[in-house]
Amino acid sequence: MNGHSERCGTDERSALVDGRQVARTAPDASISAPQAPDAVLAFRQRYRREEIGPHYRGWAHFAFTSLACLAAVAFCLSRLHAVQDWEWATVPLTFLFANLAEWAGHRGPMHHPRRGLRLIYQRHTRQHHRFFTPEHMAFDSPRDFKAVLFPPILLAFFFGVFALPVGAVLALAATANVAYLFAATSVAYFLNYEWLHFAYHTPADSWIAHLPGIARLRRHHTRHHDPRLMTRCNFNITYPIADWLLGTDDRQRRS
Ligand SMILES: [Zn+2]
Ligand SMILES: [Zn+2]
Repeated sequence: MNGHSERCGTDERSALVDGRQVARTAPDASISAPQAPDAVLAFRQRYRREEIGPHYRGWAHFAFTSLACLAAVAFCLSRLHAVQDWEWATVPLTFLFANLAEWAGHRGPMHHPRRGLRLIYQRHTRQHHRFFTPEHMAFDSPRDFKAVLFPPILLAFFFGVFALPVGAVLALAATANVAYLFAATSVAYFLNYEWLHFAYHTPADSWIAHLPGIARLRRHHTRHHDPRLMTRCNFNITYPIADWLLGTDDRQRRS
């Protein structure tokens, strides 16, 4: 785990030079410094005006994502037939793969503009991180859900370009059970990602914030929202397994 201290942590050295260091490494220096509260509030007003249509309903968005994913998981599970012991290994392997993919996607295209994936960078770094800062982590109303939940078009992109082809290959190379277990675990993981990220941005005094285990995960994500750390630390949004394995959990540096 040596070496992560150069890119992760809140130690004196990085705090001392954060301004210069981040300006050199971050893709967008205009959002690499802590924002004044007024700047966050001004951004929120502009985002709501320009990005959230009058017909947008936050709870409908949340329900659509949840029900579509749960229906897909239920369908995949209903297709299983006489699952062999070794086939069940698909579940933990897919979970671990998804955790690494979440880390890589967040550290890569979500924080660095890449050809063909600029929409993801735009939504995450340019919008999500400016809408929510460590001092302003909570929604003000359900309309703000749009700044957290993936739009349905990205859901279709994710499943059409990634999950379906991989599932098809697995069905050919392994068994139909392996393909359906892979698809079910991937979709369940994605929904878990959406629910957890949603939980981190609920008000600190909400019942969701007090569910078991949520407080610790919220702190992990809140530190990632610090503009000085966002390109270096805490890339897992669900469980910080890849952050721990790859040395980008900021607590490793402090412990
Ligand atoms: Zn967030
Ligand atoms: Zn981020």
